[in-house]
Amino acid sequence: MFENLSSRLTKVFDRLKGRGVLSEEDVGTAMREIRVALLEADVALPVVKDFVAGVREKAVGQEVVKSISPGQMVVKIVHDHLKELLGGEGDEIRLAGSPPTVMLMAGLQGSGKTTSSAKLARRLRARDRKKVLLASLDVQRPAAQHQLEVLAQQAEVASLPIVQGQQPVEITRRALDTARREGFDVLILDTAGRLSIDEALMGELVQVRDLAQPHETLLVADALTGQDAVNTARIFNERIGLTGIVLTRMDGDARGGAALSMRHVTGRPIKLVGMGEKLDALEAFHPERIASRILDMGDVVSLVEKAAETIDKDEAEKLSKKLQKGNFDLEDMRAQLQQVTKMGGMGGILGKLPGVGKIKKQIAEANIDERIIVRQCAIIDSMTRKERRNPRLIDGSRRKRIARGSGTEVQEVNRLLKQHRQMQDMMKQMKKAGGLKGLLGRGM
Ligand code: GDP
Repeated sequence: MFENLSSRLTKVFDRLKGRGVLSEEDVGTAMREIRVALLEADVALPVVKDFVAGVREKAVGQEVVKSISPGQMVVKIVHDHLKELLGGEGDEIRLAGSPPTVMLMAGLQGSGKTTSSAKLARRLRARDRKKVLLASLDVQRPAAQHQLEVLAQQAEVASLPIVQGQQPVEITRRALDTARREGFDVLILDTAGRLSIDEALMGELVQVRDLAQPHETLLVADALTGQDAVNTARIFNERIGLTGIVLTRMDGDARGGAALSMRHVTGRPIKLVGMGEKLDALEAFHPERIASRILDMGDVVSLVEKAAETIDKDEAEKLSKKLQKGNFDLEDMRAQLQQVTKMGGMGGILGKLPGVGKIKKQIAEANIDERIIVRQCAIIDSMTRKERRNPRLIDGSRRKRIARGSGTEVQEVNRLLKQHRQMQDMMKQMKKAGGLKGLLGRGM
């Protein structure tokens, strides 16, 4: 999977990477090639359009980073967009606060729904140490309930005893009772499959959903069916409301279109992927890893990330030069506050400097933390430029105005001004202790 897409994109970027300067034409050509590559991978057209437009916008307005070529920057931009397209940080299966967590599995016949139900049960047992009950609501296909029973045994989890002639809603009620009574952590309801979107079965699914109130409603979709899988997911989401997708047959030779379009088209995350027929072949979906696999250019991506860190370092050095000249006004403080969070807090910076126990303590007392940094920046923003340059101008009535303007309290304004004075003092001490420049030079 993704092999063709990967090799096409790699070719596009190999041509761009080495260039010192990118002309508009270069970018235009690259965008056209990316567009074709995505379409050939069976990605939905609206998704392709948005993707290319997003990359183009970012690529045009990109910050120029020292030591990085524009082509490398474009690689990084495409990588980040791919990751976002696939679902950003990724979404896990969620368990309810109080058991049993109810999970409803839906999908077309043959999508891998029953297998995925058993795989998920196994995963929850083996990985999360949960007590799981599987129940089949499929009274359409004669052997379906028995199939799930067999799979449950293989997965070493319990299955709801089969009662001939019971209808899905009755089975659901019995399953819920059993799960509650026997202290199961998770109940997985495997619903009847269908060959295509079928009104009667949809109605049944809605009834079961209303009764079971599932915490997770997962659509199982077959990656090999490409855009059909995506459209099925869209319709199921509209009709019954999904919390996520299980994409099966990711081990096959699907072109990747379903995985790449799913989130954008349905608004729902892919949570799990099926990687084979065996019961342990179920994995969490990691957008970052997949983006890196598609864009086989990890070296470039990390290079750009490092360079971006260097920009921060350059800014910090600029600031430190100012400090050494002895001017540290509130505008510098604002820049500094933002910088500090990026570098892991004041404690993080000072921890790298030997012999500054005393200063460290002062900082701890000054209580710099990320939440208050936002408020502190608001306070500084509410001052006039003149005041920021010369905080001594700020008298009692101005402090009140500034507090009101920033939606904070006078005490906070006072605290900030005190902290500014402390920082000024600290900078002086630090200069004696070897200089901030030396400190910042130490690989941050
Ligand atoms: P259902 O009708 O949706 O319940 O589908 P089944 O669970 O019965 O699965 C249909 C077939 O697909 C079975 O032969 C499964 O072993 C197979 N299958 C399910 N998931 C995967 C997967 O992730 N990869 C592969 N290669 N086969 C799968």
